[in-house]
Amino acid sequence: MGLPTTPLDRTIKVRSRGHIPLYCPFCNHKDSRVLESRLTAENSSVRRRRQCESCEKRFTTYERLESLQFLVVKSSGNRQPYTREKLRAGVARACAKTMVTAEQIDDIVDAVEAELAQLGKREVPSSMLGELALARLKHLNQVAYVRFASVYRQFRSVEDFIEELNSLKEHEELLSNKS
Ligand SMILES: [Zn+2]
Repeated sequence: MGLPTTPLDRTIKVRSRGHIPLYCPFCNHKDSRVLESRLTAENSSVRRRRQCESCEKRFTTYERLESLQFLVVKSSGNRQPYTREKLRAGVARACAKTMVTAEQIDDIVDAVEAELAQLGKREVPSSMLGELALARLKHLNQVAYVRFASVYRQFRSVEDFIEELNSLKEHEELLSNKS
């Protein structure tokens, strides 16, 4: 279901890492509310429907996704380059067999990445990565939240959590191949 379009709809293309203010094309106000966001077909940008908080007109932005570059510091002190795929896989596993859609999973990862981009750090503790994802899951789906929280908090690191889930998955596949 699309949002109603008005003759005042404007599309602007911006290159953003999440921390550049997006000025309203009508009144130049700097705060807008995101009504809807989705990845474009080629997954290279995020299309967002926005509404200006001042004049309330709607416009669309295309934010180019730049791959975030920072190191994830595990509780052991080991550092690994951040990858979106790993974070997404962890969230997706927690959401398995729930009503959470692939788009909602992408939205969570987008939101976490936007927040991380805003922080602009070169190193981020894995615990922070996990807490950011958890905060979103909490609002979205109880089952996914509990799963993510119980597994992740026990392991204290998203990386450990994902590794564990991957090994569980392999185990499941081994079992199902046998039957
Ligand atoms: Zn405006």
